[in-house]
Amino acid sequence: MIVIKFGGSSVANREQIDKVAKIIQERSEQSQLIICSAHQGVTTQLIDSAKAAAEGNLDITKALARQKQICLELNCPETCLKSLYEELTTLLRGISLVRELSKRTLDYVASFGERMSVRVIAWYLRQQGLEALPFDAWELGLLTDSNFGAARPLPNYLQEIPTRLQQMGKIIPIVTGFIGKDINGNITTLGRNGSDLSATLFAEALQADSCEIWSDTNGVMSADPGLISDARNIPQMSFREASELARFGSRILHPASLEPVTRAEIPLRVMNTNAPEHPGTLITHEDSSSRYSITSIAYKERQTIITITSSAMFQHAGFLADVFSVLGRHQIIVDMISTSEISLSFSTESSPQLERALEELARLGNCNVVTDKTIIAIVAPNHNHFLRHEVNVLAVLQDKQIDAEMLSLGYQSINLMLIVDDFQIAKAISSLHSAFFSQPE
Ligand code: ASP
Ligand code: MG
Repeated sequence: MIVIKFGGSSVANREQIDKVAKIIQERSEQSQLIICSAHQGVTTQLIDSAKAAAEGNLDITKALARQKQICLELNCPETCLKSLYEELTTLLRGISLVRELSKRTLDYVASFGERMSVRVIAWYLRQQGLEALPFDAWELGLLTDSNFGAARPLPNYLQEIPTRLQQMGKIIPIVTGFIGKDINGNITTLGRNGSDLSATLFAEALQADSCEIWSDTNGVMSADPGLISDARNIPQMSFREASELARFGSRILHPASLEPVTRAEIPLRVMNTNAPEHPGTLITHEDSSSRYSITSIAYKERQTIITITSSAMFQHAGFLADVFSVLGRHQIIVDMISTSEISLSFSTESSPQLERALEELARLGNCNVVTDKTIIAIVAPNHNHFLRHEVNVLAVLQDKQIDAEMLSLGYQSINLMLIVDDFQIAKAISSLHSAFFSQPE
């Protein structure tokens, strides 16, 4: 069994969907389960339309335009999506009447992207002679908690998915990525880009031989190809390296998607729909064996850095516990931390919760807040590479007049992180990329 996920760009239009059909055809001697995202741009449009409706600006035509255009390209009959169009129209009208948009309702609206795309794609594949049938993920046993916008599966997916699938016979299920349902019947989403996670959860439950994530780059790259024109493909890397990269916005994989395949030891392949002959990136337990000393450079921009300075921190047990209990209570997610005897710096995203947390943190010490910062994460196959490598990261940046303001490398960590200003990001990444990737190991 192989689980294959096609992202929004892979199903963006007829030309792309034809490539998808070919990839599925070529694997037709194996059992396959396909996870699909919404067509590119549809989820964002749905979310925007819901927000506009909540402000009294109802525009159903705009909400449905892209989906209708794709149906037209594929010659898919109106009847295929008629009931979903009606349901979405009623929902958006309702939102515009009550002028209210809860997280639960937003998930409900966002779910239409995948619910529509799987129906249209399965219909189109059937026209090509494939035994494809569309499913909403919950019909195949993916139930979640009620954490709208970032839902996670209830543990019984491991039993439910294989049981339900066994009853299906020999078909190719085309399943919604991104969405699930809670036990009260409310539709939930796993978070933006969540289809990767749907795919790896299905792969885990089905003990698949492999899981393939198809998108629009040649696998995972040594840096963001949008920023670095000579970014290189990474042929192979470990789950650990991939997790660090995903967490720091490498944009290829959803950060939580590595966990299920790591647990189940299922090889994960990242492939390019536009270059299906390219081997992409294979992710397994094995460290990467690239001839370069690091694996990849990722970054996450628009971060806020808080520094708390307090002499009370010096030889005082429990200071960090006090700080983190405030952060925990306000649900602040911290990516990077660095401490000295009397000060602690951490990075997070600006939010109203952070404002509230800062009021409490001010009681623990002097708080300094700076915004518009980028975390650069340099990931290597193992920690020795940082200790032994001749590239001096700070010197490379200094050379370009870029100040690295905070540095973090955990004990035996494979991820060296530092902070630069947002506006320096392109310069910083390109100088680091050429320093590391022009030198053979
Ligand atoms: N359609 C969803 C999004 O745009 C999920 C996904 O594509 O993975 O975020
Ligand atoms: Mg994606």
